[in-house]
Amino acid sequence: MSKMKGFAMLGIGKTGWIEKDVPECGPLDAIVKPLAVSPCTSDVHTVWEGAIGDRKDMILGHEAVGEIVEVGNLVKTFKAGDRVIVPAITPDWGALESQAGYSMHSNGMLAGWKFSNFKDGVFAEYFHVNEADANLAVLPDSLDPASAVMLSDMVPTGFHGVELAGVEFGDKVCVVGIGPVGLMAVAAAALRGASYIYAVGTRPNCVEAAKKYGATDIISYRDGDIAEQILEKTSGRGVDRVVVAGGDCSTFEQAVKMLKPGGMIGNVNYLGSGEFVTIPRVEWGCGMGHKAIAGGLMPGGRLRMEKLASLMEAGRLDTSIMLTHRFKGFDHLEEALMLMKDKPRDLIKPVVVM
Ligand code: NDP
Ligand code: ZN
Repeated sequence: MSKMKGFAMLGIGKTGWIEKDVPECGPLDAIVKPLAVSPCTSDVHTVWEGAIGDRKDMILGHEAVGEIVEVGNLVKTFKAGDRVIVPAITPDWGALESQAGYSMHSNGMLAGWKFSNFKDGVFAEYFHVNEADANLAVLPDSLDPASAVMLSDMVPTGFHGVELAGVEFGDKVCVVGIGPVGLMAVAAAALRGASYIYAVGTRPNCVEAAKKYGATDIISYRDGDIAEQILEKTSGRGVDRVVVAGGDCSTFEQAVKMLKPGGMIGNVNYLGSGEFVTIPRVEWGCGMGHKAIAGGLMPGGRLRMEKLASLMEAGRLDTSIMLTHRFKGFDHLEEALMLMKDKPRDLIKPVVVM
């Protein structure tokens, strides 16, 4: 069996290059070689916070576009040589949870997230994709692979936050966190017709990008309580929707405080540490305030991914604004991941093109 190189988590807090067997292709599956990949804040939670527990010699990464090198004999719609978008979440589509509409939890909570969680990820010369017909999406020729790799995770996650918060036209929306995920939530809220979009963050490039994506106001969490700042800007009434894409377990306290009765909070932030999320009793209407809190892992699936790609094709979504650090060559993967860990002030998102 031939060997390949991959960049892996060796244990909690430890990373390095390793050699592994090239994965085998099952009858419904595909083997893909990456064209472009990007490290994610979730990789940082996994390695340095031990958020999913220990993993030994597990290849990292779950954001990629690539070229298919092999398909199983039952794969109908893809063939070797096809260029594809690889979603971070690759569910088992026959699972009961998938039939219920929650494919991201197929066969267990969060278990649709397989890359760099239950199996090797995409920071390798080759990687395996289960159920290729349902999980891969066609990469349109007009899209540049570096921009398109944002479709793996940043676009679907940010957009899902907006879906979870139920943003409707005219809504006032607060997006907490304007890293790449929050920026895509700002873009999605604007596409859904939000009126005011209050974006919370401080990194200058993120602030500039948030304005380009449609933020009407920028709020810094360093300038004091964000709920108070929002209440001040809304004559004490608050917002209709909050999308949480940054902060920590204590952020829900502020989100509940800034929300109107009947409002919804959509969380896509990965709470990598802490035991409990606190909800303020009085501002939650003593349990009767009709303030809903939903949190979710991004959905994958070919249909959804191709719809999101068509937003880019049609010129309604430009992800290139987020690509502050571009690398060429597989060997730069480690550097790109370290940027994600250290989050220099000028970073939005690094991408590595092969
Ligand atoms: P970033 O770290 O790039 O962005 C985080 C944002 O939160 C920044 O704008 C930061 O501000 C802001 N922030 C930090 N502290 C606070 C605070 N106390 N209050 C309010 N805002 C704060 O993260 P990403 O955009 O890459 O990812 C966001 C989250 O989404 C991560 O937890 C990631 O793991 C998760 N995720 C979830 C997925 C899902 O399917 N649900 C998929 C992919 C990612 P500043 O500008 O100062 O840095
Ligand atoms: Zn990710």
